[in-house]
Amino acid sequence: MSAFRLNVPARSWNRRAMLKLGAAAAAWPLLGSPESAFARRRLALKDNPFTLGVASGDPLPDGFVIWTRLAPQPLADGGGMPRESVEVRWEVAADDAFKKIVAHGTAVAAPELAHSVHVEVPGLAANRWYWYRFAVAEATSPVGRARTAPQPGDAVDRLRFAFVSCQHWETGLYTAYQHMAREDLDIIAHLGDYIYEGKTNDKAPIRKHNSVEIVTLDHYRNRHALYKTDEHLQAAHAMCPWLVTWDDHEFDNNCAGDISEETSVTPKYFLARRANAYQAYYEHMPLRAAQLPQGPHMKLYRSVGYGNLANFSMLDTRQYRSDQPCGDGNKPQCPEALDPKQSLLGEAQEKWLYRTLDDSAAKWNVITQQVMMALADRKAGEETTHSMDQWPGYEANRQRVLQYFAAHKELNPVVLTGDIHTNWVNDLQAVPHDCKAPTVATEFVGTSISSGGNGKPNDGTPAMMVENPFVRYHSAERGYVSCEVTPQKWTSHYRAVPEITLPGGPVVTRKTFIVEHNRPGAQEA
Ligand code: FE
Ligand code: CA
Repeated sequence: MSAFRLNVPARSWNRRAMLKLGAAAAAWPLLGSPESAFARRRLALKDNPFTLGVASGDPLPDGFVIWTRLAPQPLADGGGMPRESVEVRWEVAADDAFKKIVAHGTAVAAPELAHSVHVEVPGLAANRWYWYRFAVAEATSPVGRARTAPQPGDAVDRLRFAFVSCQHWETGLYTAYQHMAREDLDIIAHLGDYIYEGKTNDKAPIRKHNSVEIVTLDHYRNRHALYKTDEHLQAAHAMCPWLVTWDDHEFDNNCAGDISEETSVTPKYFLARRANAYQAYYEHMPLRAAQLPQGPHMKLYRSVGYGNLANFSMLDTRQYRSDQPCGDGNKPQCPEALDPKQSLLGEAQEKWLYRTLDDSAAKWNVITQQVMMALADRKAGEETTHSMDQWPGYEANRQRVLQYFAAHKELNPVVLTGDIHTNWVNDLQAVPHDCKAPTVATEFVGTSISSGGNGKPNDGTPAMMVENPFVRYHSAERGYVSCEVTPQKWTSHYRAVPEITLPGGPVVTRKTFIVEHNRPGAQEA
């Protein structure tokens, strides 16, 4: 198809269109090149197809994924796109003015994948920033910025990244992302609950979901689109590459493996719904083709390296886990939780994790995952209870992983966790219920972006600290965790956003913890 030639010089430029599209479009003279009659006919300029922004992800030393989705009416069926494929131009530049284009091409946005575009940009230089954008017909996307990873063996002085989770639309604003945009971050890691599947809550105080509980592919697409209309979320995606993994709410609350927690739901229906959830997730995230789902299966666990400094093992603790053996509340560990066959990771992923760590020469090995690993007693008083939806519900699996860490101290493992809507800093010990046991890894648990609404710093904290001597910090405020990693030292800043029900709430750094290289365990800075 010759209609989308990206290299031809500008010819006729529609002046009125340029004024409407503003400076971003004006900076891209290629938009004046001839486009197909189809695109001209279908995508009138009043319908900006880039309403959901742009994103990048999963950096390699020679490139990254860039993403967008064409959706001129993001909340309409099909995003307001015709049920036809559309060719999208993309380009990557070494400068933010796009004077030095270093890669460009076209991609097909097909209705089968909700007109999403995932381009795995190749051939870039390692460890530097690039800028990217898309164009279709006469519309240009916002500009995104992405950074390639350093070469595997290369010495790297510093990595700055933030990790986040749990952004329920109805319970709060994404002010945390607004503050994140003011930090100089190389990467943002999202640990799950990017969307929530629930129906509209008519009493939601801030903003509302717009449908019944989502089950069909169109439902899931619509919910992702709704969340992606948020300007602060879009800005955070445009700022740097993201590493994404999911938890339960991208599909269904507290889901486990191939079984529904609702006994009335047959496995056939459950997996059909999961296929919808996974497809919509892929369509809305900056993921590589290796993550393209096959029906109800999607391989999301993967590793991302950052020179000799850090290696991220991104886990999926939902898709392959055995059913919660003792139910999913806070309970004493039932005997089944100690059964070695009960698995949170599934056999293949657990083997993959050990293999990945065995092969890693990174100074820090970051286990980027969902549910809390520390064996926290969740109840004050005599009865000891743990969350059975988290690692303690799969105690044998938890102990295998911790014993692996104990046997491989040179890995400097740091576990990053979401899901729980509270902040925790935990020293992870391989021997359960022994507060004198050596610490083998450090767990930083990040609170929610918005889930739960405005939090409280000390909600439940005194009891948690008393019951659990390995807990260094606990807080029930909203926010995110900003990390700075150097060869000698890991630093985690706990940023709190106390007010998320009104726009423009401030950010406060509540606590900063460090981990020294080759000395597991958190120390307050
Ligand atoms: Fe959540
Ligand atoms: Ca969750």
